[in-house]
Amino acid sequence: MSIPALTMNDGRSIPQLGFGVWQITGGKTVPTVLTALEAGYRHIDTAAAYGNERGVGQAIRESGVPRDELFVTTKLDTTDMGRARAALEDSLNALGLDHVDLYLIHWPVPRHRRRFDAWAAMEQAQDEGLARSIGVSNFTLRYLQEIVDLGGTVPAVNQIEYHPSYQQRTLQAFAAEQGILTEAHSPLGMGAGPRDRTITQIAQQHDVTPAQVILRWHLEQSRVAIPKSVTPSRIVENITVTGFELTADDIAAIDALDTGKYLGWDPEHV
Ligand code: NDP
Repeated sequence: MSIPALTMNDGRSIPQLGFGVWQITGGKTVPTVLTALEAGYRHIDTAAAYGNERGVGQAIRESGVPRDELFVTTKLDTTDMGRARAALEDSLNALGLDHVDLYLIHWPVPRHRRRFDAWAAMEQAQDEGLARSIGVSNFTLRYLQEIVDLGGTVPAVNQIEYHPSYQQRTLQAFAAEQGILTEAHSPLGMGAGPRDRTITQIAQQHDVTPAQVILRWHLEQSRVAIPKSVTPSRIVENITVTGFELTADDIAAIDALDTGKYLGWDPEHV
């Protein structure tokens, strides 16, 4: 399976499709991540807050996939903003890795300014090789601007909620101007996207599935996407998104599905 890659502003490469593991916990983590690695995923998106880093690490070891073929992302929890370095070390211990490929500030947490301390610690961790790339998540335009204005490392990635019913085009365009890649979390709209009638019609025209249409749309619009599934057939389906292209009419129809309303959480209040 050949997965396209994008180049980040630090020169490193990120596979455009990854496997999201939020809500995959307990005994499900190891077999599900193993299924994803066997299906060909080489990019795993976890977080300290998901409580499954240990299982992700175990699956990586059991898979036998060489570490240098993998791209592993984890995230700094909101409660750990004042101890970013120690939190990263905790995550590395849980994962059983000596570095992650991408470390993200999970949420901006507006009520205090610890994100600046966290960012400084992450810049240092990157210098020391503990995190190959560093970035942010759920940063709105104002927080992205703020971190760029610090004049230090520009985040490689902003991971944000992005799917047909919530398209953050202005934020993606602003990030692109700053050299920041947009990564779509909840890329299938938490499962609602594939049930949409417009998406289903487009899928029929291309003889593919609705989820494949949505993921193809992310790839064609230069976003990284990290769909989650615990269903083996869907895990394979979600990584099989080459061999067709969306038309301008398809894109216009998907653009029209934007409601401007998030399904997840408002970054101002997490
Ligand atoms: P997704 O948009 O990936 O949707 C997941 C849902 O879609 C599940 O219910 C899954 O069901 C279903 N699904 C998966 N594949 C298909 C398919 N081919 N056809 C139909 N339905 C399908 O939502 P998530 O919110 O889980 O987001 C994905 C990842 O994004 C997370 O795992 C996490 O890594 C990241 N994320 C990051 C956040 C952040 O704050 N940075 C916030 C939220 C998510 P089933 O599993 O039963 O197959």
